[in-house]
Amino acid sequence: MEDTVPSEPRALDIGGLERPALEEALAERGHERFRARQIFRWVYRHGVTDLDAMSDLPRGLRTALASELTIATPVVVARDRSTDGTEKFLLRLTDGRQIESVFIPDTPAMTVCISTQVGCAMACAFCLTGKMGLVRNLTGGEIVGQVRLLADALALRDTPFNIVLMGMGEPLHNYDETMKAIRILADEHGFALPPRRITLSTVGLLPALERLAHEPVMPNLAISLHAPTDLQRGRLVPINRKYGVTDVIEACKRFPLKRRSRITFEYVLLAGVNDSPADARMLARLLAGVKSKVNLIPLNAAPGIAFERPTDAVIDRFARTLSERGLTVSVRKSRGRDIRAACGQLIVDGQKRSPGQQLATLAFGN
Ligand code: SAH
Repeated sequence: MEDTVPSEPRALDIGGLERPALEEALAERGHERFRARQIFRWVYRHGVTDLDAMSDLPRGLRTALASELTIATPVVVARDRSTDGTEKFLLRLTDGRQIESVFIPDTPAMTVCISTQVGCAMACAFCLTGKMGLVRNLTGGEIVGQVRLLADALALRDTPFNIVLMGMGEPLHNYDETMKAIRILADEHGFALPPRRITLSTVGLLPALERLAHEPVMPNLAISLHAPTDLQRGRLVPINRKYGVTDVIEACKRFPLKRRSRITFEYVLLAGVNDSPADARMLARLLAGVKSKVNLIPLNAAPGIAFERPTDAVIDRFARTLSERGLTVSVRKSRGRDIRAACGQLIVDGQKRSPGQQLATLAFGN
């Protein structure tokens, strides 16, 4: 290659840096470490990402920082509002890949549902995102960026809200960046979001679950169980062939829980597949001795998904069978189905496609 004039070093994107890492980056550039606290306050409390506008920093420092650092935020490509108030955001990342985030108001809390990966490798049989395959992991900055963006777009900065890691992707399959994002969100100088307001939903990747058990900053845990036996679950959640039902339940029993907190077990109800009274009884037996609550999710049907939602009577009977056996049960209300924002309906078109994505698009016809 020919010699070229060295170009300006690219500005460092600090959107994914935890505070100690930001302090380090500042020190490396000859600035005071404590400025990290001020920057965190601007970015996460006030939603200001223009370094030049951080008015309590000395002017000279602001100018220097504005050329040295940057804070990338996903760009809104489309925003759809459901008749029930749910809003779906289609977001573009710096490399052009797209993801979706969803705002679900009044559940009764305000809830922001964010993605941890572009696509997903888990390939659960009833989930559209699973049809995309895994395109790539999100960075911690991209995970937190969704929260910053939605907090501003929806004017949530002064409203307490919950975060569920239930958008696209399997959070424990992108462990380090997901945990980094949780720590950034929890930072006392930033959003200062209490970890109990964050729920991480997972298929139960065992080694990662064991790691999570030792984290100092720990979110609530939701396990996507969906069936009481290995035979049934193996057909719905392929990773079950590696990490079976008993092992996942045993890991849950060992999981350190704060007083009065419990693990949520998500259970997608599929007509004629896992919704019989016998299934409910097996589930109740399986969860005996686990500090649990069960969240039943009647399937959100979609073209390309070869299952059906049970009738309300069947859903009711399943819920009653569990509660008669002493379990705490809730049935998840489906939100945003008219804009395809409900659980398992997040799928993104218009990027370089994996074979799985092409298939899903074919099935979907858009
Ligand atoms: N990968 C994580 C987050 C997924 S989304 C996990 O598996 O837990 C959150 C929940 O929606 C999961 O329990 C998932 O199984 C469920 N889900 C996926 N597709 C669905 C569909 N079509 N209808 C209802 N729930 C679905």
